[in-house]
Amino acid sequence: MIAMIAAGSASGQGRVSEGGYSIFNETMVDLNYQQVEEAAKAGAILLWPLGVIEEHGPHLPLGTDIYNSYATMKQVARLLRAKGQQVLIAPPMYWGINDATGAFGGSFSVKPSTLKAIIEDTFASFRKDGFQSVYIITGHGDRLHNLTIVEGVEAARSSTGMRGFVVLAPVMRDRLGLKGTEGHVVVTDAPAAGAALSAAPRYIEVHAGAGETSATWFNFPALVNGPLAASLPDTKFGPDDLAEWRKGWDNARTKTPLGYLGDPSTSSAERGGAAFHDGAQRLANTILAHVAASPWMKHRP
Ligand SMILES: [Zn+2]
Repeated sequence: MIAMIAAGSASGQGRVSEGGYSIFNETMVDLNYQQVEEAAKAGAILLWPLGVIEEHGPHLPLGTDIYNSYATMKQVARLLRAKGQQVLIAPPMYWGINDATGAFGGSFSVKPSTLKAIIEDTFASFRKDGFQSVYIITGHGDRLHNLTIVEGVEAARSSTGMRGFVVLAPVMRDRLGLKGTEGHVVVTDAPAAGAALSAAPRYIEVHAGAGETSATWFNFPALVNGPLAASLPDTKFGPDDLAEWRKGWDNARTKTPLGYLGDPSTSSAERGGAAFHDGAQRLANTILAHVAASPWMKHRP
């Protein structure tokens, strides 16, 4: 099956949703135990897509973050295999922290201690199977969510010996107050989750705007209400509005009664596809360069 996956997708072409909308397709969840043990023995690295379940406006599903995080890692895995890098995708994980959207229906949140414990226990399972390295994307822009993952990975590294890495955009590293010397944080030029589509947007976009709507539209079109997205006006927010929204819960619900912050009306599947492929390629390049620079990676071709 691993060989089949590699042969079938080595070119990195085709939509990631061609295997259906299952977030397990092309991950280790759809393999058997022998294939997993074989991959660990061969020195495969793991990619672990994280995300959350939270409201994403009236036009997108609650699962937007984990769907897009999964799709990104699926595409990254295809690109890495095309370069000869052995890789498996760990089970996508969608329990995380939602402060901003917590007051809306369908937004789930766990305590930081719970999220850290899940990360530590999952690392122990990776290690038990013989894997040594795992690359994580957080899938969601909430500051506490990202900080908890970074802290959880640091703790899990020392208790399990796994080499865990959180891949972050520079803007998130700065929001977390990290110095850039943390060995378990890898900085990428791929855009952060929820980022605007345009490199220089007129107004702030962080949640369920054109970026996330377009990406979801490209990869999972049946989950997007396109006509509704086209009718939603730009929130036209600046930094003060964003600060108020980030207070979360009822503040966010008052600030954005419809649950999006950005400009969904300019979304399209085509723009989403271009941004998706560009972001996945950047992320794949980041991970390949990090693996190549890591002396402990003995199984490179
Ligand atoms: Zn999102």
